[in-house]
Amino acid sequence: MAIQRTFSIIKPDATRRNLTGAIVAKFEEAGLRVIAQKRIHLTKMQAGVFYGVHSERPFYDELCEFMSSEPIVVQVLEGENAVARNREVMGATNPSEASEGTIRKEFALSIGENSVHGSDATDTAAVEIAYFFSGLELVG
Ligand code: ATP
Ligand code: MG
Repeated sequence: MAIQRTFSIIKPDATRRNLTGAIVAKFEEAGLRVIAQKRIHLTKMQAGVFYGVHSERPFYDELCEFMSSEPIVVQVLEGENAVARNREVMGATNPSEASEGTIRKEFALSIGENSVHGSDATDTAAVEIAYFFSGLELVG
């Protein structure tokens, strides 16, 4: 398996409850290395661009409101098969369907306020990393 990079967000429901460190620990225990990280507060428009793929979905406005409601922590994670590994550690979108031990099982509040985002493929990871980080900020 190849070393990959993926993009991760610790969402407002998690930063608000002081879960940043607990979530980073889950990534590190899973063999993912945090090679870039910063805390930012998105505007609703910036959140809308990021989640543009969902613009026709009924939850889009609610999602953009939520993602811009409070600070988030954006990260680049690196490791073996990082995209799939991160999705495993995150668990299913809906916490009621997430496996034991996953971040969403332990921490998510609902299908919307589900604590973390993770890229779903290497090509989307590259686009998402470039939206938030410059090359100089990526210290592998
Ligand atoms: P993410 O892209 O945030 O990693 P995901 O890939 O598991 O999550 P997507 O289908 O891409 O799930 O949905 C993006 C986000 O939109 C979800 O993480 C969640 O916050 C929100 N969302 C998805 N479905 C719903 C829904 N039915 N109601 C409210 N919010 C939803
Ligand atoms: Mg997604």
